[in-house]
Amino acid sequence: MLNLSSANLLRQSSFVNGEWLNIDTNNAVAVLNPANDNVITYVHDANTEIAKTAIKAASQAMPAWAALTAKTRASILKKWFQLIMQHQEDLALIMTAEQGRPLVEARAEIAYGASFIEWFAEEAKRVYGDIIPSNRTDTRLMAMKQPIGVVTAITPWNFPCAMITRKAAPALAAGCSIVIKPALETPLSALALAELAHQAGVPAGIINIVVSSDAVGIGKELSQNPLVKKLSFTGSTNVGKILMSQCANTVKKTSMELGGNAPFIIFDDADLQSAIKGLMASKFRNSGQTCVCSNRILVQEGIYDEFIQILSKTVKALRVGEGTDEHANIGPLIDGKALHNVAALVEEALAMGAKATVGGQPSVLGYNFYEPTVLTHVDTTMRVFKEEIFGPVAPVMSFKTEADAIEIANNTTAGLAAYVYTENMSRTWRMAEKLEYGMIGINEGIISTELAPFGGIKESGIGREGSKYGIEDFLELKYLCIGGMKT
Ligand code: ADP
Repeated sequence: MLNLSSANLLRQSSFVNGEWLNIDTNNAVAVLNPANDNVITYVHDANTEIAKTAIKAASQAMPAWAALTAKTRASILKKWFQLIMQHQEDLALIMTAEQGRPLVEARAEIAYGASFIEWFAEEAKRVYGDIIPSNRTDTRLMAMKQPIGVVTAITPWNFPCAMITRKAAPALAAGCSIVIKPALETPLSALALAELAHQAGVPAGIINIVVSSDAVGIGKELSQNPLVKKLSFTGSTNVGKILMSQCANTVKKTSMELGGNAPFIIFDDADLQSAIKGLMASKFRNSGQTCVCSNRILVQEGIYDEFIQILSKTVKALRVGEGTDEHANIGPLIDGKALHNVAALVEEALAMGAKATVGGQPSVLGYNFYEPTVLTHVDTTMRVFKEEIFGPVAPVMSFKTEADAIEIANNTTAGLAAYVYTENMSRTWRMAEKLEYGMIGINEGIISTELAPFGGIKESGIGREGSKYGIEDFLELKYLCIGGMKT
């Protein structure tokens, strides 16, 4: 299914110190297409020795990269951005093949992912320090920012391009080098990005990709190797906690983008059509497999029946199909395990009294497809309400008052994204101030952009990606006190 030009970007081994490792055919892992479980290709399975070599290479290459002017680093990053955009279609085909999402969404992710490289190329030139008014006449005080050092990154399969560029772009802009372990489900997008970085002139050792089936072993190396100064992780909360504890021994800085459990709150006074549009985008994008996907839909009782009716009709019209079908809205889930998890959550809710107005089971298409689903009569005790669904399932519950909505919404350890629909300005502010979330969409279901700080509070994470704040995680602040000033 990969056409000739996208096949030109296919790589089958880890990229370390500017080179593609030799492929040992006895030691390779299959990359599967989740739409039909066919093998797309095989990729060499790296071990921890290779991760160690990559970290060493990153450590040796970094000083020369950091010593370049920010403008020079920026021009290389801009070239990388341009090459990605020139190969947008090829990269989208690779992504759809290994991740399953519709091509139209894959193209959008390539542009979104590339936008972080463009943004941080610009930000590289704005890493300012401070002159601090001194407390003495004979001293001068200042603070300067320097690259933190070798960065490691562990990324998930749900955004195979953007989760890498959100980390690699600020790291490289700041003057750091990086070793990335992409998810085993989607290594091809990561490797294609590395090939384009290489073509753009990123020097050997500055960006390294290690593909491995040994997530635990590589994770230990990336979080415990003393040469590494920072680990940036996007994935499940459980794995994030393991990595944080592994980083503790060498006191590494960490950035964590972990699981969410987003409430989508619609008040009686909301513009209903706009709320449905926002919900469809927030809930069903990437077949519901994003950490900012609305997970719990809270609808005020005055509009509940009408809302369910419109939502059910809209969801019924979604087309499930292979990502290469240009009319498909919903692709397959990533694999059989994901399908099983979603099916179990829905079955359990149905057994506890929930009702499916649409869907409620795996799709007749088979493989890893699940029917887009709307569940009513949901309550807060059901797992479908408490856990991240990661599938095209919309559980809806009604609420009475604003205070009830806030209490239900905040009653979780997650704090990533929340959404509120209301036409009342005072209520907008009250909700914005009281919801315990790192990001809030108000009358908007799609909030991610390279321009704004993405990240969560509570157990959803530490640090922010994108925006002017995103580069800070890759910098150390150094204080200088200059004495002996003669005035
Ligand atoms: P998901 O459930 O979305 O796959 P995970 O947290 O399991 O989320 O995976 C996100 C990334 O973390 C992937 O690259 C995966 O290989 C990696 N990973 C999984 N388990 C571990 C672990 N114990 N240590 C380090 N990395 C891990």
